[in-house]
Amino acid sequence: MSTFKEMGLKSEILSAITDLGYESPTPIQKLALPKVLESKQDLIAFAQTGTGKTAAFSLPILNQIDSSAEGIKCIVLSPTRELGLQIAEDIKSYSKNIPGFKVVAVYGGADINQQMRKLERGCDVVVGTPGRTLDLIKRNRLNLEGVQYLVLDEADEMLSMGFAEDLDAILANTPKEKQTLLFSATMPPDMVKLSKKYMTDPAEISAGSKQQANTNVTHQYYKINSRDRYPSLKRAVDIAPDIYGIIFCRTRAETKEVAERLAEDGYNTDALHGDLSQAQRDYVMNRFRNRQLQLLVATDVAARGLDVNELSHVINFKLPDEDAVYVHRSGRTGRAANVGISLSLLTAKEENRLRYLEKKIGRKFEKVLIPNGQEICEKQLFSLIDNIKETEIANSHIDGFLPQIFEMFKDMTKEEVLKKIVSTEFNRFLEYYRDAPDLNKTSDRRERERNKEKNNGRDQDDRGERRNRREKREHKTAANMTRYFINQGKKDGFSPKLLMGMINSHMDGLSPEIGQIEIMKMFSFFEMESGHTSDLQRAAKQMEFNGREVAIEESSPRPEGGVDRKEKRSSRRERSGDHRGSSDNRGNSGRSRRRPSGGSHGAKRRRRY
Ligand code: AMP
Repeated sequence: MSTFKEMGLKSEILSAITDLGYESPTPIQKLALPKVLESKQDLIAFAQTGTGKTAAFSLPILNQIDSSAEGIKCIVLSPTRELGLQIAEDIKSYSKNIPGFKVVAVYGGADINQQMRKLERGCDVVVGTPGRTLDLIKRNRLNLEGVQYLVLDEADEMLSMGFAEDLDAILANTPKEKQTLLFSATMPPDMVKLSKKYMTDPAEISAGSKQQANTNVTHQYYKINSRDRYPSLKRAVDIAPDIYGIIFCRTRAETKEVAERLAEDGYNTDALHGDLSQAQRDYVMNRFRNRQLQLLVATDVAARGLDVNELSHVINFKLPDEDAVYVHRSGRTGRAANVGISLSLLTAKEENRLRYLEKKIGRKFEKVLIPNGQEICEKQLFSLIDNIKETEIANSHIDGFLPQIFEMFKDMTKEEVLKKIVSTEFNRFLEYYRDAPDLNKTSDRRERERNKEKNNGRDQDDRGERRNRREKREHKTAANMTRYFINQGKKDGFSPKLLMGMINSHMDGLSPEIGQIEIMKMFSFFEMESGHTSDLQRAAKQMEFNGREVAIEESSPRPEGGVDRKEKRSSRRERSGDHRGSSDNRGNSGRSRRRPSGGSHGAKRRRRY
């Protein structure tokens, strides 16, 4: 059985997937479809995002659901809002020709009343994040008593995000008689427990081995000195002028810091991490999806559900603790028949870890030398020339200026003109890398330090400043205070004084206490006596700073030092629709160009600063 038709899918579904351009089933679909179509046996499927796993579980379920019957027939649980929405969208397109078929997505960070209304109207399939699903069950707004199919998608992720208890509670509300399908990239010990508890004699299928890394991915690493981690990252990016990738960091603080440094250095980047609100997170993800951003700096959890197929690179600024997370990270590149590079920056100590990881995933890592200045300049130069050659000429617009342009260049040879044009774009790289040290040499530190100083101090660690920032960040939000995000930062000329002034003059005679203020590069956080969110947001609507509208949103409180397990779980749960802060427009890749701050429609009504 090598075609969807031969597998027995009904014509409504066949026509829908033909419209989507699916010609033949992917390996995981070839294995999963017959299992679900022909038996009621539970199923554990090992498959990563990008393998066609959504269709692997959706198509056979849709094929069997009777949409004329009342009640929810299938519940799909997914770790994040983004993945949930993606699954619901896919199901919608697969079922578009089935009369009366309905799917509803439920997830945190969005209006629960609206979701309740949709559920009330009735549907066949619900796709939900565990936290919101449980919330709706507790409110008696989601009845799973009639479900025939339960799908746990990215089950390993749900467990690693601390959803085990929620899953227990949700599953307790489903009938005993049902088919449970568990999709996962890996099989951590918790999942073995989960499958034993909730599945009956499950069949196992796999589109590869359980921790098999994607074969289209080349796994590379730079051996670095730990103090050269950031400059090595820059070289990795600079040697790949057309890079479109994600840089993974281990913590929110590290993510923000790397993104800020890259933005300061003129790269087209933004950060995705746990301090952003859902709206800010969507904004960053959309810009990355639309390629308005070339680089995304992200934590693992924040990047879940970001489904982008054409990533050229995944860069592990630091390796994750768990091997499975490395598999997830690297599996984000090399998708859909593309090839990709997963590059890790490793110190000698971290290199030991790599050998173990290699054994686990059954793939070899290739040690690559950190490129030197000359190699980077060469690469950038030829990429620039390629770009110039490929640029389309806007004939009708340019022609009118040509006589004047020829006149301006009349004293120069063709060679001189070319040199000048190339230099306007290229000088920055030449300048930066003129005396760049060989980062592969770890012994000659003194010389490297001297060279770093010559390089304008860009690669220096700024330890004092960073320590200060870190200390500020680790300050916990006082109990009676709420922490807010505001879309104005140092780059906008924003300061604590301006913030206080703006608040005082717009709060209609209220004088709430203001706590800690953290002015970051592109945005800021501040604390204010709790209970004033709506006054504050009303006030923000009347404000304008440097021609930009002011946006203020509640942010999560700053954890003190680390995060305890409970906090971690709840903040992760929150993350299936939670609060983060985002930086705004950044420079253009390697070209230090900031977009002019846009004028606002509401500018006249807003007070300008
Ligand atoms: P998934 O692993 O479910 O995230 O799917 C990855 C991508 O593959 C999605 O864009 C799907 O639309 C696409 N896809 C799934 N199955 C097929 C198929 N049989 N043929 C072509 N594309 C597919």
